[in-house]
Amino acid sequence: MYIGAGLLSRLGELCALHLPERRVAVISDERVALALALPIDAAHFTFPAGEQSKSRESWERLTDSLLGHGFGRDSGIVSVGGGVTGDLAGFVAATYLRGIPWLQVPTTLLAMLDASVGGKTGLDTPAGKNLVGAFHQPAAVLMDPSVLASLPLLELRNGLAEAVKHAAILDADHFAWLGANAGDVIAREPGTIEALLRRNVAIKVEVVQADEREGGRRAVLNAGHTIGHAVEHASGFSLSHGEAVAIGLVAEAQIGERLGVTEAGTSTKIASLLESLGLPVRIPRTLEIESIVSALRNDKKNRANEVRMVLLSCVGRVNGSESYGWTVAVPESLLRESLDR
Ligand code: NAD
Repeated sequence: MYIGAGLLSRLGELCALHLPERRVAVISDERVALALALPIDAAHFTFPAGEQSKSRESWERLTDSLLGHGFGRDSGIVSVGGGVTGDLAGFVAATYLRGIPWLQVPTTLLAMLDASVGGKTGLDTPAGKNLVGAFHQPAAVLMDPSVLASLPLLELRNGLAEAVKHAAILDADHFAWLGANAGDVIAREPGTIEALLRRNVAIKVEVVQADEREGGRRAVLNAGHTIGHAVEHASGFSLSHGEAVAIGLVAEAQIGERLGVTEAGTSTKIASLLESLGLPVRIPRTLEIESIVSALRNDKKNRANEVRMVLLSCVGRVNGSESYGWTVAVPESLLRESLDR
């Protein structure tokens, strides 16, 4: 894992180191291909930007193009882009000729601190997101904070919501650091972003290493996501994922406080940090409570028709344990009361 401003200029050198003697194919979406000039001489394959490209059709087009250009088992993939590109190009690498190595260059904050850790690659299907995929660790990950200069603000905020989540579940000091440095974070000051990445990546690595194949502790990464996903769905995706997660983190902390699981005042601390980073913290009044509740009923963490969620005990600590489990059942009456403020 390489993290540092200006690293992109060393892409050729790092390809030679981690994909030695390999014929390199670069995969990125069209927007990233326009935004970033890459200092390597390699065949470049692109696809239209956006989640709709994380599809079997894109995988088919990319693998056919690689075959058409004669890429063999001595090839390597370099993925340059956000989480969509990482998941798609990583899945191409996992499956092409039964698997070839890849190097990941995440270019959104979300892809840097979240999607590039854990080795998950995959595609969406009509039945749902990420339903076809594979674990395929990249040979190396190269994060250059200066590439975030061209990232739209909304996309930066999507990453910041996950950064706050990481801090809220595992690291009270990092949570305080984010608050103290919110201005420089929003300004994308490369040194500040580098410090943020180092800590956030370490948190994700710690959680994922404890649970590589998602049996237990990795569930803590779902903090804020139960309400978050439901609100995102109920908004018809007019809220971005990060905005929905921000709202979810606050709503779930409020629910935890009402249940007596979460220390009083936690939701206020989380809301204040999220607001300082420009993220929303309240469920928009235009959203129907019924559509949020109905989305919650379909959450994959539910057991025996109970809505379950990851709750904090306080900022920096999740309620739960390996033996007790990492989710708490929330009675529907309390859910409705909390959503209906
Ligand atoms: P994305 O890849 O679609 O990128 C968002 C937008 O930013 C795109 O339009 C892209 O073209 C543009 N962009 C990217 N980098 C840019 C740059 N430097 N300058 C200008 N524009 C740039 O989306 P995302 O938010 O990065 O990732 C979301 C995806 O990641 C989802 O599909 C999600 O399922 C996946 N994900 C995967 C994991 C994992 O563990 N594999 C974890 C979290 C999320």
